[in-house]
Amino acid sequence: MNCPKCKTHTLVRSNLTKGLPASECSTCRGKWLNFSDYLSWQQQSGKVSDTETIGGEFEDTSDAMICPCCTKLLSKYKVSANLPFILDQCGRCHGIWFDKNEWESISTNGLATKLHLFFTEHWQKNVKKELSDQRIVEIFKKKFGAENYEKLTEVKSWLNQQSDKAAMLAFLREVN
Ligand SMILES: [Zn+2]
Ligand SMILES: [Zn+2]
Repeated sequence: MNCPKCKTHTLVRSNLTKGLPASECSTCRGKWLNFSDYLSWQQQSGKVSDTETIGGEFEDTSDAMICPCCTKLLSKYKVSANLPFILDQCGRCHGIWFDKNEWESISTNGLATKLHLFFTEHWQKNVKKELSDQRIVEIFKKKFGAENYEKLTEVKSWLNQQSDKAAMLAFLREVN
């Protein structure tokens, strides 16, 4: 089995964590996870501790990659609006490719046992929503300035707790 990123180097047996085997490329440090290995680990590890730390930079692969198992083109998935990388998964055998540090980051963020959900429509919809919410926040921050944005956010959450919010808003609109 060849590394889908480096193409030439052979992947060697390794472990993502205790009890979860994977194949690792000794050159780019990317890791290939068979979906069946993941599932059997996931089923018996409801109480996994995510203690590993993130060790450095991410090296996302923008090139199209071929599945090392079944040679199908891998699809790209964003995992979370807050994680700065994209995972590659095979739509046929469901194997997953982690570029260097991606598994560690997923694990540290408590998402290791949720891998199978990342590729569902529901999960992807939520990620898109998170991303668009973040973009909206950025637009307003730019418009009002960071400090004013913070102040407005405070006022907004305070207003949301008031029972006569509508009247208060009407009052604010009258201010001149
Ligand atoms: Zn490699
Ligand atoms: Zn495959």
